[in-house]
Amino acid sequence: MTLPTQLFVDGAYRHSASGRRTTLINPATEETFAEVAAADLGDVNSAVESAQRAWESGWRDLPPGKRTEILFSVSRKLREHLEEIAQLETLHVGKPISDARDEAGLGARVFEYYAGGITKFYGQTIPVARGGFDFTLRQPMGVVAAIVPWNFPFAIGCWKVAPALAAGNCVVLKPASLSPLTALKLGELAHAAGLPAGVLQVLPGSGSTIGDALVTHPLIRKVSFTGSTEIGRRVMELASRDLKRISLELGGKSPNIVFADADWQRAAESSPMSVFANTGQDCCARSRVFVERSIFEPFVEMFVSATRKLVVGEPTKPETQLGPLVSQGQRQTVEEYLSNARKQGSRFACGGGRPHPKGYYLEPTVLLDVGKSDRCWREEIFGPVVCITPFDDEAQMLKDVNDSSYGLSGSLWTNDLRRALRVSRAVQSGVLSVNSHSSVHVEAPFGGFKTSGLGRDLGMTAMEGYTELKNVYVAE
Ligand code: NAP
Repeated sequence: MTLPTQLFVDGAYRHSASGRRTTLINPATEETFAEVAAADLGDVNSAVESAQRAWESGWRDLPPGKRTEILFSVSRKLREHLEEIAQLETLHVGKPISDARDEAGLGARVFEYYAGGITKFYGQTIPVARGGFDFTLRQPMGVVAAIVPWNFPFAIGCWKVAPALAAGNCVVLKPASLSPLTALKLGELAHAAGLPAGVLQVLPGSGSTIGDALVTHPLIRKVSFTGSTEIGRRVMELASRDLKRISLELGGKSPNIVFADADWQRAAESSPMSVFANTGQDCCARSRVFVERSIFEPFVEMFVSATRKLVVGEPTKPETQLGPLVSQGQRQTVEEYLSNARKQGSRFACGGGRPHPKGYYLEPTVLLDVGKSDRCWREEIFGPVVCITPFDDEAQMLKDVNDSSYGLSGSLWTNDLRRALRVSRAVQSGVLSVNSHSSVHVEAPFGGFKTSGLGRDLGMTAMEGYTELKNVYVAE
C-alpha cells in the first residue's frame, strides 16, 4: 500500500513550500511509520487562491446534472477503494478494522446522498402582497474551509466535503495532524473520479500554524469545523471579524437514561459500546449513565460483565472491538482523569489499567459513586471511561442530565410512550435516540445544543448551511 505523504493541491500531490513534515506514529505499535508534508502559510494562500479560481472558472456554474454525475462517480471510486481507505484509517488512528470499513462505506454513501440531493434542493416561490413574481435562490458561497478531527477522519471529512461540493462550493480540507492519510486519499480519488483540479484541496499541517490563516483568509466564505469546544470558540471569534459563515460540531458529555420499565437488559448489554466504541474517542459517547434505582444493581452487574467481554487489542484483527487510544498524549490525558477519580473516591467497577505492554491501550473503565461536581462527571474525557449513577425521580434526573455545558447526543430507554415523548423534549441535546444508541443517519441533521456546536451536518440541512439564500423580486 502506497502512503500519500504530500499535500494534494490542484489535482496533484505536491511538496509543502517549507519542506516541513509531520511524523506519524502507529498507536498500536508506538512505531514511526511515515512523514507527511505539513502545509505552511504560503501553501494556504496558494491553495485557497487556486480553489477560488477553480470556483469562478467552472465549478460554480456547472449545470446541476453535471455536478450530480461527478459526485456519483466520486462515490463509485470510493467504493472501489474502501479496503485501502479502511487500512489507512486503522494505521494512523488505531481504529478497529471492522469499524474503519464501516466508516469508509459511510463516506461513500454520503457522496451518493448529496449527489442525488443536488437536483432535489431548491428555493420557493412566494406570493408577496404587492404582486409580481418573488422567488428564492440557493447560491454557493465560494471557497469553504473544512477542518476535521482525528477520531472519524474519513467519515467526517466526507460529511463536510460532499454537501459543500454538491451546493457548488470549492473546499480546502484540513485534516488533523494525527490523521492526514485518508483525507489525502479522498482528494486523490475524487480527482481520479472526475472532480476538476482545485475544487478539493487537501492541506495537512498543524492547526496552530495554519488554522488561523485558513479561518481568517479573505477568500474563505465559510468555515465548517469539527473538533474541541476550545478550538471551536477560537474559530468563532476569528470568523466573526468579517462575519464568515461557520458551522461548529464540538464536544459532548452525553447521557444514557434507563428507566425500569424498559427492556433494560438489552440496554445494559448494548450500552458499553455506546460509550467505549472508538475507545471512547467519540463526541457522542454516552459517558453519563442514569439508571432508575430499582434496577441499578443488576443493570451495573450486566453492564460490567458486557464490558469485560469486549475485545481490546490489535486493530487490524477483525474480532477487535476496541483499539488503542490515538496517541500517547491522549492516553496520558485519560489516565489523569482516572487518577483524579481515585483521589475523589470513585469506585472502579472494572478497568483503569493498561491491558497490553505496547501500544496506547487502556482498559474500558466503569466508574461508580462519581460526584456530580467531579471532573470525570462534568468534562469530556474522550477515552474509554463511563460514570453510572442511580436516580429516583424523573424531574431531578432531567435537571442533572441538563446540568452540563454540552448538549450533543444521548439515549433514552423506556417502553412508556408518553414518557418517551416527554423526556425526549426535555433533554437538551441536538440528537437523541429512544431504545437505541444510534446518533448518525446520513439523511438526518446532526449537531449540538449549547457548547456542543452551531449548525448541522448531514441531511439536507447541511446543504442549506453551504449556501446563501437570495430573494429575487420581479415586478409585473
Ligand atoms: P481539536 O484539537 O479541536 O482539533 C480539531 C481540528 O482543528 C484539527 O484538524 C486541528 O489541527 C485543528 N486546529 C487546531 N488548532 C486550530 C486553530 N487554532 N485553528 C483552526 N484549526 C485548528 O480536536 P481533536 O482533538 O482533533 O478532536 C477531538 C474533539 O473533537 C473532541 O472534543 C470531540 O468531541 C470533537 N468532535 C466533535 C464531533 C461532532 O460532530 N460534534 C465529532 C468528532 C469530534 P491539528 O490536529 O493540527 O491540531
